[in-house]
Order: sequence, then structure tokens, then C-alpha cells
Amino acid sequence: MAQHVKLFTPGPGDVGDEVLDAMAQPALRHYGPDWMVIHNEVMALLHQVYKTQNDIFMVPGPASAILDMSIGSLVDTGQKIIIGNNGFFGERLNDIARGYGIQIIPFTAPLGEQLDPEKLKFILSENPDVKAVAFVHHETSTTVLNPLRELAEVIHQAGKISIVDTVSSMASVPLEVDDWNIDVCVTAANKCLESVPGIGFVSVSPRAWQQVDNQTGIQHGFYLNLKTWRKYATEWGSWHPTPVTMPTSVILGLRASMLRILNGGLEAHYAKYKNANRIVRRGLSNLGFEMFIPESIASPMATAVKARPEFEIAEMSTWLLNERHMAIGGGLGNLSGKIFRVGHLGLSAERDYLIEFLFSVEEFLRTKGLPVPVGSSLAGLE
Ligand SMILES: *Cc1c(COP(=O)(O)O)cnc(C)c1O
Repeated sequence: MAQHVKLFTPGPGDVGDEVLDAMAQPALRHYGPDWMVIHNEVMALLHQVYKTQNDIFMVPGPASAILDMSIGSLVDTGQKIIIGNNGFFGERLNDIARGYGIQIIPFTAPLGEQLDPEKLKFILSENPDVKAVAFVHHETSTTVLNPLRELAEVIHQAGKISIVDTVSSMASVPLEVDDWNIDVCVTAANKCLESVPGIGFVSVSPRAWQQVDNQTGIQHGFYLNLKTWRKYATEWGSWHPTPVTMPTSVILGLRASMLRILNGGLEAHYAKYKNANRIVRRGLSNLGFEMFIPESIASPMATAVKARPEFEIAEMSTWLLNERHMAIGGGLGNLSGKIFRVGHLGLSAERDYLIEFLFSVEEFLRTKGLPVPVGSSLAGLE
């Protein structure tokens, strides 16, 4: 096997042995009584993570596919959607809507700042005919955590459907799909659920179903269509609950990681990210780095750090990769070369990974001739 690269990226992360062991099993059929036991158990675990009674679907593919399915199923070509956009993944929601010929009403904030619920209230009052509002909870490209609860409340008060990308926030911070009236909520296995990529999830509220059923425009295909998934879940639900072959090994891995997380408790899982985030923020600050955004609006699952004048970010990431077999995340889009991002998923939030990471950055700084005493990153962290 090639040299293992330790992942300090904001997704995917290095998964635990419980996931690897669960996946190293003979292939299963994605239907029949044996599979139904696993399917139903995973569904129950997902409902616990989402904190919802709404329908949830498990859909093979990347998170973007499920965001595509959600927007395409709720809004017809020619209709209007408000899209919150303060970064790379907000822009992706725009691309999805544009692909369907949906009219986009922009709701923006500068990179590194939060979406403002008061501004959304105003935009909604000016556009009473929109069918939905879509936005990203944790904008992973900047690590800004948008005020989900407040935004969802504004959308609910206006009687509109919320479609929320919680891909990199679900299970890292408190999130209550039912209590906060989130209509359509999308996430995936390979961020804070700490399993491998290959499957994502969407919850659909009764109000969202009403809107799906009232849509009269063309159906956007078969696979990325919520109606297809509901049909199989209801009509074939007792033995073959999905329309397609499922990545059964990936689902076994997910079950193992969710069992681990829920057995420890979601609160402890949130605390793990907070702790890793605190250590990396403090550790890198000790070494003279500046953080990209203030802690008060930052997600705990990743840390975004500014470039500094002594070297290019690419030089540091290449050194870490080649010399220490560690991968960090770069800046996306306009932030390329301006920031780097350190993810805290999976093993990267563990003590040995964190210390090795900080010591490796110290070493890199010394190769640049900077006076960094060994262990100085850990000052105040003992
Ligand atoms: C990772 C991520 C995505 C994209 O996930 P894919 O599985 O690559 O499609 C979408 N939104 C956010 C906020 C993400 O962090």
C-alpha cells in the first residue's frame, strides 16, 4: 500500500478502524429481510442525528447530487428561488438552480461574513412569489457558520420552504431539524458523520412534500427526483426500499461510525470538534499565524488560517505532504493562495494527530529560517 497520508482536510477525514472493519465484509444484497434490518437501523440512527420525524432518504452519490435533487424537486424551471451565497458552496447552489433554469434572487454576504436574517426578511418581502430559499449552514470554504436557526425561522414565518446544505455541519454543532422548522435538510456521510464518501441524506417535511406534489412543471428525470425515492420507500418499502442498487459496504461503514458517535453522545462529538478547533487556533496563533475569521462566527469542524508574507501556502502544504505525509485544505475559488484550512474530522481531532500536526508546522517554519522553539505551538495548551 502507498504511504498513508494523514488527512487534515475539511472532508473527507481519516476514518476510524470501526468503519474500515465494518466495510471489509462480503458484498450484501440491497434488498430482502437481512438488508431491511440494516436499512431500518441506519434510518433510525439518521433520525436521531437529524432530530426529526420527517422522511429521510439515503441516496448514493456525493452531497451535490442530493442538493441537486432537492432544488430540482421543489422548484420548477422558470420559478423563483432565493439563494444565500457567502462562498464556494453557496455558489454551487446557484449553479444547480441555474442548471434547471430557475430564476435566482441573490441573498449574499461578503466572504468571511455571515448571511443576515434581517436582510433575508427584506428580500422575502420584496419577492412574495419565491418557491423556496436555499443556503449553506457551514460554508466550508471560509469556515463561516451561518445562523441556521434564525434564517430557518424567517423562511418559516414567510411560509416558504427552506432547503439547507448542512453537509459539513450536521453532527458538529447543535441542529434540530424539527424544532427549527427545516423543510429540506441535506448532509453526507463523509463530513462530521466521519465515514467514507459515497452516500448522502435528505430529510423532507410534510410542507415540502405538499409543494413537491403541487408542482406542475416537467419532472427533472428519474434518479435525482424525490418522488422516485418516496415511491420505492412506500410501495416497495418492506423489502426493497430504494430505487437503485445501494453501496452496501459504504452503508455498513456509516452505521459503524454513527453507532460510535451516538454511543458517545452528540454533545461529546460537538465537544471534540471544539477542542480540536481551540488547539489548532491557539497553536497556530502561537506560531504567528492569523486566523481568517473570528471564533464567534467560525465552525468548530475546521480552522481557516491566513497566508503570511514569509512563504506561499502551497510551499507549506507541499512540504507537509512530502516530508510529513499530511494533507491540509487550501483556499477555494477567490481564496486560493490566501488561506489554508485545517479540518478536524475523524482521527485528526485526536491528540496524537494534533500534536504531530503542530510540531510539523513548527518544523516547516524553522526550514524557512523563522525562530520557532520546539514545542512553542503548545504554549497555553498544556
Ligand atoms: C463537502 C461539501 C459539499 C459537497 O460535497 P460533495 O460530496 O463533494 O458533493 C457541499 N456543501 C458543503 C457545505 C460541503 O462542505
